[in-house]
Amino acid sequence: MTGVADFNIIKAGHSKLNDFSLENIQFGKYFSDHMLEVDYENGQWKTPQILPYQPLQLDPSVAALHYGQAIFEGIKAYKDAAGNASVFRPYDNFRRFNISAERMQMPAVPEEIFMEGLRLLIEIDSNWIPPFHNHALYIRPFMFSSDEAIGVRPSDKYKFMIILSPTGPYYAHPMRIYVEEKYVRAVEGGYGFAKAAGNYGGSLLASAEAHKKGYDQVLWMDAFEHKYVQECGTMNVFFIIGNTAITPGLETGTILEGVTRDSTIVLLKDMGYQVEERALSIDEIMAAYEVGNLKEVFGTGTAATISSIKELKYKDYVMKFDVEKWTIAPEVKRRMDGIKYGLEPDVHGWLYKI
Ligand SMILES: *Cc1c(COP(=O)(O)O)cnc(C)c1O
Repeated sequence: MTGVADFNIIKAGHSKLNDFSLENIQFGKYFSDHMLEVDYENGQWKTPQILPYQPLQLDPSVAALHYGQAIFEGIKAYKDAAGNASVFRPYDNFRRFNISAERMQMPAVPEEIFMEGLRLLIEIDSNWIPPFHNHALYIRPFMFSSDEAIGVRPSDKYKFMIILSPTGPYYAHPMRIYVEEKYVRAVEGGYGFAKAAGNYGGSLLASAEAHKKGYDQVLWMDAFEHKYVQECGTMNVFFIIGNTAITPGLETGTILEGVTRDSTIVLLKDMGYQVEERALSIDEIMAAYEVGNLKEVFGTGTAATISSIKELKYKDYVMKFDVEKWTIAPEVKRRMDGIKYGLEPDVHGWLYKI
């Protein structure tokens, strides 16, 4: 593998873009004209292919469907007012993808396939990046085991793909959150730090029960004591107590190391706040709330950037927040979006130009 020359490219004869507008498009429903597909077999990655977007033909015995050896990533590309396209921190997603791969006993995807494949695919489908503020092209790299045999073991065959989906604008309504004590998302020694498909399948029942009770999402707690906060749904979570921002640390292996989480930490420090990555108990949160010291609570993730939490319910105790009066979370979002849409200088080198 030495780069561009090694990609096999077959262009679509017709662009689906002729048939619809990219404005106000719903998340995850529409896909661009092309996709990247790369097969791994007998210890080797084969020639990467960029093909017209199309269904896959799979044998019903394909291992991923039975045992869940499947991982993914979520990244976004943006256009600035002048029409220049860039991707937000894709190398961080590339690194995280291979950390997930290792945990799930899957082969690492080489940088020249992941990054060059991503760049080429977006270049070919660059018309699919919506040229509007608050819009983006969502990039979904994923890999699954494709052995055609029913037997529990790592596969000999894998498929790595990237598909692209235009999206936006995403308005994150302030959320009512239920502190979850019955179900857990991740446990020490498990694979909560990996972006593995099964983490999502296993979380849906808790979300559904929270919805039935009138809440938007759950706040996951640690698996042993149900005492330490973990993540909010599929987002990392931040608590502003006094002048300190606290987010759960990564050492337990139960937290997904979000790129938005890291970007938020950097921006909060730029803004002069103390940031602590450590265990944070629900008791400490309630005590801070009681004395009026719990200022803001929010989730972070690629989909919404920042999602404010307006209510937290733990057992019979309800904590409410006047989201309209917040200054910190909105400023983090303003700065991060400013960089993504080219309105602010990219002082941290987060943009990867297409
Ligand atoms: C993807 C994900 C996040 C957010 O990660 P980003 O890189 O910021 O998008 C947080 N928690 C979970 C469980 C996730 O799967």
